[in-house]
Amino acid sequence: MIDSLLNILAPHVCVACGSEGCLLCAACGKKCISHDSTCFFCGLAVINNELCWACQSRYRLATLTSVGWYNQELKAAVQAYKFGAKKGGAKSLALLLGQVGGNTDDHVITYIPTSARHIRQRGFDHTKVLARAYAARVALPCTTTLARTNNSRQLGSSKTARHSSVKGAFVAKRPHIFVGKDVILIDDVITTGSTLSEAAKVLLQAGAKSVHALVLAKTPAHTGPNR
Ligand SMILES: [Zn+2]
Ligand SMILES: [Zn+2]
Repeated sequence: MIDSLLNILAPHVCVACGSEGCLLCAACGKKCISHDSTCFFCGLAVINNELCWACQSRYRLATLTSVGWYNQELKAAVQAYKFGAKKGGAKSLALLLGQVGGNTDDHVITYIPTSARHIRQRGFDHTKVLARAYAARVALPCTTTLARTNNSRQLGSSKTARHSSVKGAFVAKRPHIFVGKDVILIDDVITTGSTLSEAAKVLLQAGAKSVHALVLAKTPAHTGPNR
């Protein structure tokens, strides 16, 4: 209700074309969907924009699905949502996740929790709000399954430093809800993939059957062989 009130007071404008109504209109949202199909981690050609077998076992994610590349429209939408306190924009972004997300039958929907510091800075947990909006679209509950153990920083770190800084960053919560189940793990942007991979390891150790990452955008800088 607060969101609809905010929309009346300050209606969303499409970040790409300027039309009124939502953070990203349907036409511009459609343009964001990437149809290329390479493994995010190694660049190998794969089916359905997911992960190759070797990277599935190495990074512990059964699949990794993204709406598209973190550029132009998608970047503008994610940044406006995340940094512009446009909480109501989660619905537009969840619509995109719904367009690329696969089967959700009997899956547990969860998310990468945002650090307390970032929640304080932005006024909301953008990943949780996004995951809730997606869960509402697929008529499933959104469950908090992870808690952060520290406020490990990621921005500006090297790839190696990022991998070590996320190790031990999460603990599992409410395992009884996801033991033996397929889990869909929502995040906004995948950069190195180390955060999603670490979260997947924690969920699997706590009893999840499989972990499927579903993200809005992937950064091109870390894709391709030997990167
Ligand atoms: Zn538009
Ligand atoms: Zn791969």
